[in-house]
Amino acid sequence: MGPVWGIDLGGTKIEGVVLEDPNNPVVLKRLRVATEKEKGYQHIIGQIVKLVEVLMAETGVKPHKIGIGTPGTLEPSTQTMKNSNTTVINGKYLKRDLERALSMPVSMANDANCFAIAETKLGVVKEELPDAKVVFGVIMGTGVGGGLVVNGQVINGKQGIAGEWGHSFMDTSGGKCYCGKVGCTETIISGPSLERFYFEKMGIEKSLPEIVGLYREGNDEAATQTVQRLLKFFGQGIASIINMIDPDAVIIGGGVSKVDLLYDEGVKSIEQHVFNHRLETPVLRPRLGDSAGVFGAALL
Ligand SMILES: [Zn+2]
Repeated sequence: MGPVWGIDLGGTKIEGVVLEDPNNPVVLKRLRVATEKEKGYQHIIGQIVKLVEVLMAETGVKPHKIGIGTPGTLEPSTQTMKNSNTTVINGKYLKRDLERALSMPVSMANDANCFAIAETKLGVVKEELPDAKVVFGVIMGTGVGGGLVVNGQVINGKQGIAGEWGHSFMDTSGGKCYCGKVGCTETIISGPSLERFYFEKMGIEKSLPEIVGLYREGNDEAATQTVQRLLKFFGQGIASIINMIDPDAVIIGGGVSKVDLLYDEGVKSIEQHVFNHRLETPVLRPRLGDSAGVFGAALL
């Protein structure tokens, strides 16, 4: 097989990559442009077209098809986007509009699904657990989501929402979610939600890494409460995923996954909530870093 192309549409940046081959993720070229979502839907389409044109010019390769990872999901029945926290694309015929603008077929998947398939086929699962059949990829970043891979295939589900634990109810203290519901997992353990929780206690804006640093120093009560909130709800949330599908591995991605505490205290918290006398599920750190989303898109 020849080169494969992937685009990762994010809320702040759009990234594109050309990989030499789907089984050999040597990067021929990788580029980023700003999403500038505040300029509207047509502008986002234009940014993607621009990115593809520059990639073509710089690699001298012309794609026949492009894989695109998106925030949110394509609704199978209407072919319009839904559930995206980049709300400007919701209700839009993103796949159709991109196919027209780029004059080529587009394969589209949710960004969490791209992450899960990339880490399964090219990343940590391939390296450490090559026999894993059921893999759950968790995204905890600006948003919270997830992707389920079974036997090397992404499971989209009847309504395109498989793996979307970020909008399962967790606790009313999270408040209102952009999706219209109250107390979604995302309103509690996304990076911005944790930072907001700290801000409401202290009246000072701190980033999550700063809050974790203050927690480790041990004399900031609000930081302690924020980190304990993360650990408690992380444990409850991941345990209910494990209770439901009992995967061979769970991979934790997104900005919040950089919190080291998740892999010791967080795993203990999962153990407390799982319906078993022990926790055998490996909870893995991703290997592909920022590349997972765009590599996964290229694998589509
Ligand atoms: Zn929600």
